This record gives sequence, structure tokens and C-alpha cells, in this order.
Amino acid sequence: MRYSEMYLPTAREIPSDAEVASHQLMIRAGMIRKLTSGIYSYLPLGYRVIRKVEQIVREEMNKAGAQEVHLPMVQPVELWQESGRWVHYGKELLRFRDRHEREYCLGPTHEEVITDLVRNDIKTYRQLPRNLYQIQTKFRDEVRPRFGVMRCREFGMKDAYSFDADEAGAEKSYDKMFVAYNNIFNRCGLKFRSVEADSGSIGGKYSHEFMVMADSGEDAIVFCDKCAYAANLEKAEIREPEKKNISQKDWLPLESVHTPEVRTIEEVSTFLKVKPRDIVKTLIFNADGKACAVLIRGDQDVNEIKVKNYLGAAELELADDEMIMKATGAPRGFAGAVKIKTRVIADFSVMNMINFVTGANKEDYHLKNVNIGRDFNVEVFADLRVVKENDSCPRCGDKIKFARGIEVGHVFKLGTKYSKAMKAVYLDKDGQEKIMVMGCYGIGIGRTVAACIEQNFDENGIVWPMPLAPYQVIITPVNINEVDIMKAAESIYSSMLNCGIEVILDDRDERAGVKFKDADLIGIPIRITIGQKSLASGNIELKIRKTGENRLYPSQKIVQEVKALIDQELNPAAK
Ligand code: ATP
Ligand code: MG
Repeated sequence: MRYSEMYLPTAREIPSDAEVASHQLMIRAGMIRKLTSGIYSYLPLGYRVIRKVEQIVREEMNKAGAQEVHLPMVQPVELWQESGRWVHYGKELLRFRDRHEREYCLGPTHEEVITDLVRNDIKTYRQLPRNLYQIQTKFRDEVRPRFGVMRCREFGMKDAYSFDADEAGAEKSYDKMFVAYNNIFNRCGLKFRSVEADSGSIGGKYSHEFMVMADSGEDAIVFCDKCAYAANLEKAEIREPEKKNISQKDWLPLESVHTPEVRTIEEVSTFLKVKPRDIVKTLIFNADGKACAVLIRGDQDVNEIKVKNYLGAAELELADDEMIMKATGAPRGFAGAVKIKTRVIADFSVMNMINFVTGANKEDYHLKNVNIGRDFNVEVFADLRVVKENDSCPRCGDKIKFARGIEVGHVFKLGTKYSKAMKAVYLDKDGQEKIMVMGCYGIGIGRTVAACIEQNFDENGIVWPMPLAPYQVIITPVNINEVDIMKAAESIYSSMLNCGIEVILDDRDERAGVKFKDADLIGIPIRITIGQKSLASGNIELKIRKTGENRLYPSQKIVQEVKALIDQELNPAAK
């Protein structure tokens, strides 16, 4: 493509609402433009990168045996009522009515539509397994759209859905997708980790998230270098500690102390001169309308997802003042497990504590020297807390590490959540009706592009890895008004086009410095400079964007050398 004809509005200024590098650079490099909050247009350069990711995704999905479909974005209310998600999905679901007052939503994901499709067409075990995918626009009315296309409201997603006859089959389908995802993100040239994750509101048993490692990432990841355990912070587990032998002789007499207006762990710690780790924090949760007390050591934090999963609750939130008053007989800040009128569950961190401090379930009072087994009992000790820096790996016991990541893909085992609710059944060998077992697998296309930039940029702009680069080469003739320079540039340009190289010829009447700056900003991996010096010497200068390295090649060899370089970068395994 000739630069002079391109729709490529680059900018020097950093847009004021862009916090992260990828957002700033995608705007400055003329890849995207904001239409309104969380809704973006892709310009030609940006769309070429999107198409590259989509192509890699398509090839790997097809290779894994999935077949491409294209499902509607507008979805009728009835399907969402059948699955139960019309009520449960919440405000991210954009709902609207047509002229007949019929209700619809814009698809944030397509489990309902695909399950409806498959239940109508698949009747017997002979038609299973099947895996269908699409690359489609999704709409999610995110509370806080931010970071450009990384967390926006309208975005492209590859979503695949597998249907199997049984659990064992579903496991195989999941594993195939897991492999395909590794291939996809490797081919995109990304540094990533697959981490264990919770299954969230979509349901199912467990899942893996594919995280691109980046300091700007929204997600915290816990990992172990020794045994390769990796999980997101929500899911990261704590090993059950060994139960210490507690002698009842060590139990000191229970004591009630007046603690006026002393509520938080810090306040109690200062007032009673005890360490937070000697206090047991009692949090009252509202689990599907019922109160439940969760105990945890004062220096730790409750992981609400773990509590929700343990209780098997559909909805979980901290109890309001009224519920706290009813459960404890005291206002917020004085809860404790002694004589409380709720279920009591405790985190492992409380298991070996003795003579600790808790609230007294009485306004302005706390209890000292509280002991489990004498003063109250708990239903269970379980893993209910958020993993912290000094914790050890739940698998091998080595010290775990923390990092930040951007979730670009997610593979889920759905089990029979949708197939059961929506009656996606088939007849097995014996003519028995069985429920299909499903999996679903998403990749954010735009987010993958943004994540790639987060890993590949410097002070001058984007540094595309070859597989995602919008163009592979940019030819910069230093002065377009000099006939011999332009002749050489045109000749290399057309030879490269003939070889299938994706190349820009910067034929603008601009100073070389301006052209170099733009080439760096838009991040083209290979830049070829043609000036009088190179013409005189018969050598052409090539610059590698990533390393800044300059190379000289005889002009008759340049096209072939560049082609080899590109092929090697696209196919590193063949080195
Ligand atoms: P998140 O926790 O980041 O909100 P999610 O769990 O809601 O993600 P999924 O429902 O698993 O995401 O969607 C599959 C993929 O779609 C994600 O891995 C991500 O790459 C992409 N994605 C999800 N939400 C957005 C968004 N608001 N903007 C861009 N991409 C998104
Ligand atoms: Mg989300």
C-alpha cells in the first residue's frame, strides 16, 4: 500500500482519557477511534491486526475440528428466560423492545442461541461430539468501560461451544480447546500463562483463563515456578494447615471488655494492644437471604468467591445493618461467634488460634481469650481467604509468586447447565434420552490485540511481533523528489508485493525524520531506507524495529533476505 493513499491518521499527542500504553498507542497509531463510551471504530491499520488474530484463531479452531457458524447478535427474551439468565445476568445485558413490544437483548455471549440451535438439529449419539464456533460482535454494558478496546462494551469475540454425549467426551473436547488456545497465543507471539479460574456466573465446574503477562493487567495471578501451578487470585488455593495439639490448660478465662466506638481490626488492635493476627474477624454475609458468619484471622481477607462456592449460594453479599443486628444483637463492628444465631464457618487461618479477641455481639464490647471448642463451635474450617504474598504453593509447598495479567481467553466446562435447562437431549445407543454435556471457549479478539501492544512497545511506539503486524515491511525513500531513489523504491516495492510481502511504500513528500517517526509509531517490524548513499554503494539498509539493529544487503538480494526473515519470524519452530 502507498502511504500517500492510506487512511492512517497518526497523532503525536497522548489522548487525555487513555491510561494504558495500548490505548494511547492504538489511538496515536491511527488504529482505533472512539465513537462513544466503550464503543470503538477500527480504522484500516487496526482492522488489519484484528484480521490477523482472527485468521490465526480460525486456523487453529478448524485444525481442532471446530466448525465456523455465525449466530445472530439480537436474541429473544424467551431463550434467556429458559436458561434463567434473563434474571441473573444483571445490567451487563442490554435489553430492548421491538415495534411489537417483544423483548430482546444484544448477545453478550451465545450459550442460549447455540443450545437452541443444537437441540433442534442433533437427535442421536451418532451426531456427537460437535464443536461450533463463531467470530462475532458481543455487547456487554460494562459498568466501567476502560483501557480502550481492552474493556469496552462492543467487542469482537471468538466463542466456541462443544457438545458431547458424556463427561469423558466433554473432557476431551475441553483438552482439545486447551491445546488450540496454547497454539493460538503462541502463534500470536505472546508471553502468556494458562491459569486455573473460577467459573463465575456462567456456571460449570472449573475453567482456565489464558493470561497475557503485563504489569498493566487488571488480573492478579498467583504462580509457582517450581511446580507450574498457576491460578488467578480469586481461585488461588491455600493448603489446609496441620492441626496443632491445643491443650485446654492453655485456655485463659473468657473476659468481656468495654470497647466504646472500637469497631475495625485496626481500632481493636490499637485499643486492646493486641496484634491483628490475634484477633478473629467475624463477617456476616447474606447468602441467598440467610445470614452466615465467616471467621478469619484479623490480618487476612475473605475471598467472597470461596465463601459463595462453599455455601453453594447463588447470591452472596455482606449483610446490611438490619441483618447484622438480627444475627448478633449488636450494630456493625461488634460481631463474634460466641452465642451467635447463624451458621458459623471459619477460614483455615483460625484453626490453630487460642485466646483470641472477637466482638461480643453487644454494642461497645469485645471478648478476650476466646477459644474454639469451649466458647463456640464451627461448622467447618475451610479455605476461605485471599492468597497473600508469603503463602506457599498449594501443590508443592514452595513460595508462590504474584504477577499481573490480561485475560485474553477462557475455556469453561459447562457441564449440563444449559443443556438441562433448555432440554438439549439426544438418544444414546440403547435409545435412552440423555442430556448433552457442554463446554464453552472464548477469546477476546480486540483485547488480544491490545494485550499484544502492552507487551510490545517502547518510547517511540508499537513494536509488532511479525505474526500480528499490520504490515511486515515499510520502505522509506528519504526523498521522493529524487528520481533514482524513487525508482529503486518502486522496484523493491513491486518485487515485494509479487512475493506476497505485506509492505507499505512511504511515498509521502515528508522529511525522512517524520517518516521514521511514523514507521516507529505504527510499529512495522522491518524498515528499509533508500537514500543516495545506499544507491551509490549498491547496498540497501534494513532496520529491525524490535532490536534497533541495522543491516546492509546488496540491493539485488534485499527482497529475498526480507522474505526469509519474515518466514523465520512467522514460523520460529522451523528455524
Ligand atoms: P472479564 O473478567 O475481563 O470481564 P469475562 O470473564 O467477563 O472477562 P468471558 O465471558 O470469559 O470474559 O469472555 C471471553 C473473552 O472475551 C475474555 O477472555 C476476554 O478476552 C473477552 N472480553 C470479555 N469482556 C470484554 C470486554 N468488556 N471488552 C473486551 N473483551 C472482553
Ligand atoms: Mg466480564
